[in-house]
Amino acid sequence: MIPVNEPLLNGNEKKYLNECIDTGWISSEGPFIKKFEEGMASYVGRKYAVAVTNGTAALEMAVEALGIGDGDEVIMPSFTIISCGQAVVKSGAKPVLVDSEYDSFNMKIEDIEAKITPNTKAIMIVHIYGLPVDMCHILALAKKYNLKIIEDAAEMHGQTYNGKMCGSFGDISIFSFYPNKHITTGEGGMVLIDDEVLYERCKSLRNLCFSPDGNKRFIHEELGWNLRMTNIQAALGVAQLERIDEFVAKKRWIGNMYQELLSDIKAVNLPIIKKNFANNIYWVFAITLKDNYPKSAKEVMKELGAKGIATRPFFYPMHKQPVFNKMGLFLDNNLPNSEKLYEKGFYIPSGIAITKEQIREVSKIMHEILN
Ligand SMILES: *Cc1c(COP(=O)(O)O)cnc(C)c1O
Repeated sequence: MIPVNEPLLNGNEKKYLNECIDTGWISSEGPFIKKFEEGMASYVGRKYAVAVTNGTAALEMAVEALGIGDGDEVIMPSFTIISCGQAVVKSGAKPVLVDSEYDSFNMKIEDIEAKITPNTKAIMIVHIYGLPVDMCHILALAKKYNLKIIEDAAEMHGQTYNGKMCGSFGDISIFSFYPNKHITTGEGGMVLIDDEVLYERCKSLRNLCFSPDGNKRFIHEELGWNLRMTNIQAALGVAQLERIDEFVAKKRWIGNMYQELLSDIKAVNLPIIKKNFANNIYWVFAITLKDNYPKSAKEVMKELGAKGIATRPFFYPMHKQPVFNKMGLFLDNNLPNSEKLYEKGFYIPSGIAITKEQIREVSKIMHEILN
């Protein structure tokens, strides 16, 4: 079976992990945390970074740190991972969903303004699959209506918008380091921030809001979480970050190879190669079946699986999630592109460790099944 994703851990990962064990620094104290945070902040061009346990936790912390809660609304795409919606719902605020562009997978900018109300506190933008959201319009809206921006850059390490790094646009921006992301710590996440007050707040929320006053160590004025990343995870992160340029180049090489090899398959739409503000970084190689193609994505994925090619379905639209519908949320939402993307879309193997031979094999089987 050719897996959808396999990470590449053959740089300094082992050496740095051994250092953790040899020195005994295995908790969230230890030198790699700060090194990883500073490395990411400098790579993305932010003042501060706070490493946490995963990307989902980073989103929850971002919502809480911005003071979003009961009665507030946050605008976000329906076509994204549950983490985005649940971070807002769990805070007591309400997600307000917009549809996505069918070809770029990113939220429809032109639909946002009509959804802004006096309760809107933030826009959560999510760069999906490989191309960034067209940020200049979002930044203008945020300024006009005095809204915060939470930027989910979990799939976008190394991508730029008009030459500026993704992860540099939010009041709080987040990354994930799950093994299918461009760089991985096994499990892991991070928030990036320029504002010092927000930075201190995030550090406090990560660590149970312990009092900074040593005399009041176990006296708490607020509730936080334990979201501390371990030195072991950060050791992996430091080793991975050393190779990020190479990994980003490899992702683009994989994407370009698939573009060439699959261009003659009439049954599918291939991902957009570039926009005027960015070249696709191909976090995943995301395909939709043409409208006139008779089979569903589910059927095609099954046939590919039977021939040894692993695939993944697209996100299930947030407004259709049973868990939210049961709470009475999104029942009247009509967001057809998000629904159609789920029906027609899937992605194929494109992990950092994939070989040229594996890519050729995927292409061969795709031709057998789809032509
Ligand atoms: C992966 C991902 C997350 C969640 O990250 P975890 O580390 O798996 O919790 C959030 N948002 C997007 C867009 C993602 O792709």
